[in-house]
Amino acid sequence: MPPKKKAAAKAVKPATRAAKKPASESSPVPQLSEYHRKRDFSKTAEPKGGAAPVNQQLVFVVQKHAATRLHYDLRLELDGVMKSWAVPKGPSMNPADKRLAMEVEDHPIEYNTFEGTIPKGQYGGGTVMLWDRGIYTYGNTDLEPAAGLRKGLAKGDLKFVLLGERLKGSFVLVRTKRGDRGKNEWLLIKHKDDYAEPGSDVAAKFLTSVDSGRTMEQIAKDGDRVWNSNRA
Ligand code: MN
Repeated sequence: MPPKKKAAAKAVKPATRAAKKPASESSPVPQLSEYHRKRDFSKTAEPKGGAAPVNQQLVFVVQKHAATRLHYDLRLELDGVMKSWAVPKGPSMNPADKRLAMEVEDHPIEYNTFEGTIPKGQYGGGTVMLWDRGIYTYGNTDLEPAAGLRKGLAKGDLKFVLLGERLKGSFVLVRTKRGDRGKNEWLLIKHKDDYAEPGSDVAAKFLTSVDSGRTMEQIAKDGDRVWNSNRA
């Protein structure tokens, strides 16, 4: 692990201090201890993590999640886990939109292939659709990607470029003043570039899975708790 700046160390503290389960039950990846604490893996088919190799290129996914409230989970790979934000209105390709994005616990890389249903009563219970996926990189060129991303996360100003099936181009996540006070609140904003689509509504435009082509209703009806670990 590289040395962390003060803000970065503060940001990861809850996760690294949270493990209270015996070593045999605790997370194989230290950053995933909060993820583990929230879930009962005898009841949910979500992955435990720790088994996937770190990707050659950084990957991202967006999962549409019909939990208590519908939201879209944006996950960006960094340092062996998926940094995660829940975006209630979903991402937008319109630079005029500022989408609230609540930072949530790090997720395992294996989560990137999860599509199905989390059982009722379990944490995040509801239907999960793979809404977008692809590779991404740091949005500036002054540092190597991982270093730039770590710095951006710590600063609360994270610029990145997505190359997904539906989301493309330059974005920024900016931590708000409320976010600075431990509320984990960020804004997701599309930069003006060749991929920007003023006036568009990408979340409304694409209503099916990038993986299976299914709608949320079909995924829920199929009742599968399958997550396809064999897909690239
Ligand atoms: Mn979610």
